[in-house]
Order: sequence, then C-alpha cells, then structure tokens
Amino acid sequence: MHHFDLKDGALYAEGVPLELIADEVGTPAYVYSTATLKRHYGLLRAAADAHRDALGEALIAFAVKANSNLSVLATLAKLGSGADTVSEGEIRRALAAGVPSDRIIFSGVGKTDVEMAFAISVGVRQINVESGAELDRLIAIAAMMDTSPAIAVRVNPNVGAGGHAKITTGGKGDKFGVPVEEAMGLYARASASPHVTPVGLACHIGSQITDLAPLEAAFKVLAEMTRTLRSQGHAVTRLDLGGGLGVPYSGGTEPPSPADYVAMAARVLNGLDVEAAFEPGRLLAANAGVLLSQVIQVNERSDGRRFLVLDAAMNDLMRPALYDAFHDIQPVNPRVGARLPHDVVGPVCETGDTFARDRELPPLEAEDLVVFTGAGAYGAVMASEYNSRPLVPEVLVDGDQWAVIRPRPTYEEMLDREPFADWL
Ligand SMILES: *Cc1c(COP(=O)(O)O)cnc(C)c1O
Repeated sequence: MHHFDLKDGALYAEGVPLELIADEVGTPAYVYSTATLKRHYGLLRAAADAHRDALGEALIAFAVKANSNLSVLATLAKLGSGADTVSEGEIRRALAAGVPSDRIIFSGVGKTDVEMAFAISVGVRQINVESGAELDRLIAIAAMMDTSPAIAVRVNPNVGAGGHAKITTGGKGDKFGVPVEEAMGLYARASASPHVTPVGLACHIGSQITDLAPLEAAFKVLAEMTRTLRSQGHAVTRLDLGGGLGVPYSGGTEPPSPADYVAMAARVLNGLDVEAAFEPGRLLAANAGVLLSQVIQVNERSDGRRFLVLDAAMNDLMRPALYDAFHDIQPVNPRVGARLPHDVVGPVCETGDTFARDRELPPLEAEDLVVFTGAGAYGAVMASEYNSRPLVPEVLVDGDQWAVIRPRPTYEEMLDREPFADWL
C-alpha cells in the first residue's frame, strides 16, 4: 500500500505530479511519500499496541541503514519511532533527526572501540553484542568510562531466511550473532561483570522474508533461552526481534501482513513478561519511495532486442545488480499501446548495469519519465558516484508540499571534494 497513484493519466506522489518534480529537480531522483511512511509505521504500531499484554511497551526501531535521510528519519521520529543503528554515523543521524537516545539500539557485527564509547557517551538504549571478543572490548571500554551500559546478546538461532543469499543473516555460516550455547555463556559472563548490564536477547535472521515460519522458529529460540536464563537466575527483560519482514515488490510472493507478523510474535512471547523491540527497515520504507528516471533513448537492435536506456543507473539503485532484485517499472505518463519486452539498462559501462531483462512495458519514447517502485529502502543509501555521476538527489512529498531533502551536487562540488596532492 502506497501513495503513488495515477490521476488523469499522470503519476503523482500524493498531491504532487512526478513530472513537476522531474522538471524542477531533474532526473534521476528519489521521491518519498510521507503518507506511506506514516501508514506503515501506524499499522505496525497499532498491531503492537493491540498485543501490549504479550509484547509490553514494544519499541519500533526503524533500521536506519534502509533509508538514512535525515528528513525521513525525522518523519518517523515524530511518530515515536526509535532507531536501529549499525555505525556511529547512523547514531549521529538518528540523534540529529530527533530520535531520543533511549530509543536507539546499536547493532552490528564490527563495532569499533571508538563507536562503542560514543554509543555509551550518548546513552543509547542498548548495545547488541555480537561476539565474545566484542563483549570483552565493551567491558573494558565501559570500565574505563566507569559505567555499565545495557546490552543484549545477539543470538544466531541457526535459522537462515531471506529473499537472497546475500541478505540472509541467521544461518549457521553467516557472520552475525553467536550460537545458542555460546550466547548463554556470554550472558552469564556479562551478568558477572559490573560494567555491562545484560537486559535481554536479540536476533535478526535476514531480510525480505516472505514466510512467518523461520521468524517464528527464531522467536521460539529466544523465548526458550529466556526461560533457561531465568532458571539460572539471570534477569531478561527485553527481546529484540530484529527486522526482516518482506514487502510486495510485485512479481514475487505476497508477504504476510504486519498484523499477522506481530500477532505471531505475541503468541510466542505471551506470558514471558518482556518488552519486545521490532527493527523494521524495508517494511516501513521500501514502498514509500520511487526512483524517478528519464528515458534517454530506445535502442531497437537488428536481432529484435529492445533496450530501454535510462538516465538512472546501478550507481543510483544497486539492488538489481547486487541481489537480482525486482523493481516494478511504470511510466509517469502512460501511452496507449501494446506492451512489449524491453531490456532496461542504465548508462554505466558494465553489463551489471541492467535493471530488468525482457520486461513487458507499455510503449516508451525518448524523454518519457518512468519510476522504479519499491525503491525507498536500500536505494539512495547505497548510491555512489561511480562513473562520476553526481550523487542522486532525494525529495520528500507530504500532501501537496514537497522539498529537496538531499540536493544533487553540482559538478563543481563533486570535483572540489578532492584536493590535489600538493606535489602535483
Ligand atoms: C538490516 C537490519 C534490520 C532491518 O532489516 P529489514 O529487512 O530492512 O527489515 C534490522 N535489524 C538489524 C540488526 C539489521 O542488520
């Protein structure tokens, strides 16, 4: 469900014609819908509130890595969202956008000493510890700072799931979290230290998960561990359930609804008397964004292949090249006529710069505008200036208003960032 709809034959972002944004900002550009972000957050919040008896005052902590634009974060912060962060930069972004520090979770498999000290100094809600070595470093840092931050132990429940091997994180061979046995040992070690305060367990098994079964299996592991840890005399008050619920990109499997997902979590956690945390990234942001692009030309080759060459490329939207991801492509001003197969490509000098092969699309001509839907998560955050293409800008729409929330750098700005070595 989103707010990019056709009105009188033209595609709008809420009350704003996408053609207007293309005219004023140029293309390619990301365009985000405030109403969609609000709707998605609201659905999850309502589901969690409906299960307060089982989930406590559940925290919804948006996974900042999915979309770290300050205005997007501020939109969610105003709704009460927390933030799941994986670097000092993301913590700083969340704080700058108005997320209170006690709603910020610091996760990640490779936190540096400097980053952990920073997280402690700003008073994040909890640090999710991912290994024994990390726990040792954290204890040393906290001892030096004479404090005892709240931590959760990230468990690898040995249930891998996700839309692609590169976004699976909970399988045995994946680099994230510690196996159950080891996690129990870490928890006991943490409990014995005056310099960390273990409050609970965390997991995150993958992304773009379209089936509740693996998530349920993982949550059951956390619930079982909670009972065992308590029987050993340890306090467990929070369970961080991670993110990972998939979204409809169309052309793929229809994922479970947020309500069913939360209801499942409530069933598994019922009676444990813990406070749950959800860390959705894609679920909140993916369908709240499109990548707006213009057709440079249509190449009809003599062998019959038809290439739609766009001004957006893999450096702007990496998911198809990186994960073979599917994004629906829609014209902004659809023409009447038969749909024909197109290979949709960008101008970057790599074969990987292919968004889709043999995609059936309505007629398109040079200078027509198109959008890639479902581009609000893991889109702009992964953009680069490969091929010296200035960083793709971002626009936020709210009803009839819109604003550029990250401008496209000029060529001068792009070149000025690189001082010449003084011997040249
Ligand atoms: C990436 C990540 C998330 C968010 O994943 P989505 O699939 O976008 O919901 C949540 N928690 C952690 C620890 C992550 O690394």
